[in-house]
Amino acid sequence: MMVAELICVGTEILLGNIVNTNAAYLAEQCASLGISCYYQTVVGDNRERLLEAISLAKSRADLLIFSGGLGPTEDDLTRETTAEAFNRPLLMDEHTKSRIEAYFKNRYKDQEIPENNWRQAMVPEGAVVLDNENGTAPGLIVEDDGKTAILLPGPPNELKPMFSEQVVPYLRKRQGHVIRSKTAKLCGIGESAAEEMIKDLIDAQENPTIATYAKTGEVHIRITAKAKEKHEADELIKPVMKELKNRFGSCIYTTKEDVTLEQSCVEILMENKLTISTMESCTGGMVAARLTNVPGVSQVFKAGYVTYSPDAKRKILGVKKSTLKKETAVSPRVAKEMVKGAVLLLKTDVALSVTGLAGPDGGSKDKPIGLVYIACRVKDKTRVMEYHFSGSRAKIREAAAAAALTFLRQCLWNDVKSSPQKNKS
Ligand code: ATP
Repeated sequence: MMVAELICVGTEILLGNIVNTNAAYLAEQCASLGISCYYQTVVGDNRERLLEAISLAKSRADLLIFSGGLGPTEDDLTRETTAEAFNRPLLMDEHTKSRIEAYFKNRYKDQEIPENNWRQAMVPEGAVVLDNENGTAPGLIVEDDGKTAILLPGPPNELKPMFSEQVVPYLRKRQGHVIRSKTAKLCGIGESAAEEMIKDLIDAQENPTIATYAKTGEVHIRITAKAKEKHEADELIKPVMKELKNRFGSCIYTTKEDVTLEQSCVEILMENKLTISTMESCTGGMVAARLTNVPGVSQVFKAGYVTYSPDAKRKILGVKKSTLKKETAVSPRVAKEMVKGAVLLLKTDVALSVTGLAGPDGGSKDKPIGLVYIACRVKDKTRVMEYHFSGSRAKIREAAAAAALTFLRQCLWNDVKSSPQKNKS
């Protein structure tokens, strides 16, 4: 098993001026390639400390992946320092030199190329040069004494394509096996409950491996298999995915990498030619925003109202004054009257309403912060659910929007589509 260590170079990261998103990206990529990553280091633009970090990383990893410090200025030290630590002199790379020339000509026409930029064409002897399609600094791969250094430019828009298009094939070839993964995305179940249901599978896992990841209102279960060939890895994944489908049934909203919860809801609406409208209070349009993330939603999405004040709930949706007074705006009854109003107003097949207390003020013993009611009407059947969320205002609102989509999906499953469980019997 190959072990990698990430070394992100830049005083800006140490000072907290920029967030180390490259580390998150690279760590995730390593995981999906089946490369173990035990340490990540952030080091400033300082030669001695960088040398120290490299030496430590070499003592415990086979692969050192660097981000940043490849620029043209004096404080960009990664190239020089790595060349030193890997015992390689720097030589002018003619190919990179002409690439830099072409890059400047293309962008800045007749402007002279700053002298500093030629530093970027100096590469450690014997290094593999990775062309940079989005900037001047090339990436570099240097091997010495069984250890490999991969140097990548700091800007994420340069690092990411370079990694996915050039480094991934290089690492795949070196590994001599392929790693494939597939994810089951679940809603309507918490991470610990989901984990409990597959504890035996997790305990017995070897190849493929199974891991759960919690997202807001969702749980993702990733199955990762390692094999000599792609199809062998896929065959290893199949029975495990089948078992997950058996155990979680309709809680799994998709097994496709790029399908979101909102998309799975929109697909059911489209398949059944049902229109939808949303009536939101505390989520302020977040549910509508998520639904309208989906391309082609215009076929089914009629309208999204943010009826924030009691007055708007009354005037726009016809929520009764007496209900608002007696039960307050955060009540199952108001949630129900909101969807009823939506149906009358918009002749929509499906209506979804959210009303709740996002805080931080305004809670009481009876109606604490985080209390949210969601109503969903599919044709003429209305269901209401009560939720208790915790955390900041932002967290509560996000959780409420995710719960609304989950509830919508459940209602659609029950009312217009039969679940796999029902199909089986
Ligand atoms: P350049 O040629 O642009 O100077 P470089 O390889 O020298 O590239 P740095 O100077 O270290 O990279 O960083 C350039 C910019 O890239 C930073 O200002 C920052 O916006 C972004 N960046 C650098 N490192 C990271 C990181 N670890 N995570 C996210 N963004 C980063």
